[in-house]
Amino acid sequence: MIPEVFIQFDPSDKHDRKGCFFVLSGPSGVGKNTLVNLILKEMRGIYYVPSVTTRAMRPGESQMNPYAFVSVEQFEDMIEKEQFLEWKKIHNNSYYGTHMPTILFAIDNGYDIITDMDVLGCQDAILRIPERIYTIFVLPPSMDELSNRLLERDADTAAVKQRLERVPLELGHKDRYDFTMINDNLEQSVNELRSIIQSVVEQRSE
Ligand code: ADP
Ligand code: 5GP
Repeated sequence: MIPEVFIQFDPSDKHDRKGCFFVLSGPSGVGKNTLVNLILKEMRGIYYVPSVTTRAMRPGESQMNPYAFVSVEQFEDMIEKEQFLEWKKIHNNSYYGTHMPTILFAIDNGYDIITDMDVLGCQDAILRIPERIYTIFVLPPSMDELSNRLLERDADTAAVKQRLERVPLELGHKDRYDFTMINDNLEQSVNELRSIIQSVVEQRSE
């Protein structure tokens, strides 16, 4: 059962301005979830919004970490009820979507949030809420390193192949992003992402 708003926000994290919405894109396996998890540990007052998906859970994943896992019927019902800011069918026809009520609640109530989206979904989200969205594209240091990361994470070689096939599409959109960064050394990348987030939130007063 999907809750009305995914996240329990702590009122002490509320700002006197609207919330900022950070979106990470980049090829699957580049390290988006790893970076987000480390940022959440290091920075107070920023919340991860799990996307909704119909793909199968991987070992180590659980409900809401990193996705709200639902059936195809549930996802299609949510499309019909206009519950998505954007949604796409990606890898092997699995659905992925961003839960609109949670995003709008956070922005309207002054909470800063972060999530990841594929490049096409990100373009839709920018069109719908252009004024509060900040986009960050994460690049791999090389294609070999990206393949290694995917293979280390997932024993399913067909799933890895599907993800690699989508890389040119993802990379083709990188110039549309507000920020780009290379996730090579993890510690340096976390510092870079933290600097990007801090520079944005420090500039927002409304
Ligand atoms: P994404 O969310 O982009 O699909 P993940 O965060 O799941 O990618 O990372 C894919 C794999 O790469 C994981 O096994 C993760 O531990 C590893 N990884 C992430 N960042 C780095 C890095 N900077 N150096 C080496 N391995 C990394
Ligand atoms: P996976 O986690 O299955 O390896 O890959 C997920 C892919 O879907 C990544 O490209 C990721 O950025 C994207 N994705 C994750 N959540 C969403 C979402 O809510 N909407 C869209 N459009 N893409 C998403």
